Amino acid sequence: MLLWNGRLVQDNEIQVSYLDRGYYFGDGIYEVFRIYDGHLFEVQAHLTRLFKSLREIRIEIPWNEEQLVGMLTSLAETFGRKDGILYLQITRGVAKRSHLFPEAAEPVMLGYCEEAARPVDQLKKGIAVISLEDERWHKCHIKSLNLLANTLARQEAAEAGAEEAVLIRDGRVTEATSSNVMMVKNGTIYTHPNGPWILDGITKQVVERLAKQSGIPYQNTAFTLEELLEADEVFITSTIKEVMPVTIINGTQVGSGIPGVITQLLQNGFEQKIGLAEAP
Ligand code: PMP
Repeated sequence: MLLWNGRLVQDNEIQVSYLDRGYYFGDGIYEVFRIYDGHLFEVQAHLTRLFKSLREIRIEIPWNEEQLVGMLTSLAETFGRKDGILYLQITRGVAKRSHLFPEAAEPVMLGYCEEAARPVDQLKKGIAVISLEDERWHKCHIKSLNLLANTLARQEAAEAGAEEAVLIRDGRVTEATSSNVMMVKNGTIYTHPNGPWILDGITKQVVERLAKQSGIPYQNTAFTLEELLEADEVFITSTIKEVMPVTIINGTQVGSGIPGVITQLLQNGFEQKIGLAEAP
């Protein structure tokens, strides 16, 4: 099933126009929601960010938050009690190609679900990343469909045998191509402050809350690549990767080379939130 402009339809019932502005300008925004056992995770936080992205690029949609929750829940119900993701995108609509906003175009909404297992092996062992220059634009807080710089960097990472690319702007670590970056030094968690250089990740928000609940100092303070390389622990956060330990950066081992104590504590807290961990 697909969610198409507010309605649940079969895959073969839709027709995407070649004049959709998402198609030739990337003129739209998106969200990726996590589904655990058929349930949408942190749906409200994702919708708050979705409306923020829409406001930033001046797309108005005819649905409010409550209506969207209803539609997304119905779509997730058709998916069943599985683990997966719900992808939702909204473009500015269909119009003759012109850089100017069209005078009369209706936004086009598309949503679908896809199965996705939790990356349990990687969550236990950690992943390798490389660092690359952050070549993206100055509005990374918008979850825009324009992801070319992200995909180029992610591909470069894969070709270097790494799982992600940590991005560096003006000497500071901003985030990674599709995740936020955090490091632990002397018991404090550091991550780049919100603003135009990063996406305010929903998983990052969950981690900040978990850290505060556990009494772990948490600072929105940027750091350099050198500081990252000398961190005690490093992890990335995202809807797909959850709280993912980073054990190798540019071929160099992080800390003791295994997922750190604070990372594991946050992973446990996260699992409890998604209802998987056993009660202590
Ligand atoms: N930064 C970027 C650039 C991303 O694409 C993502 C994935 N949405 C994130 C951070 C992490 O955000 P979230 O935790 O909401 O998935």
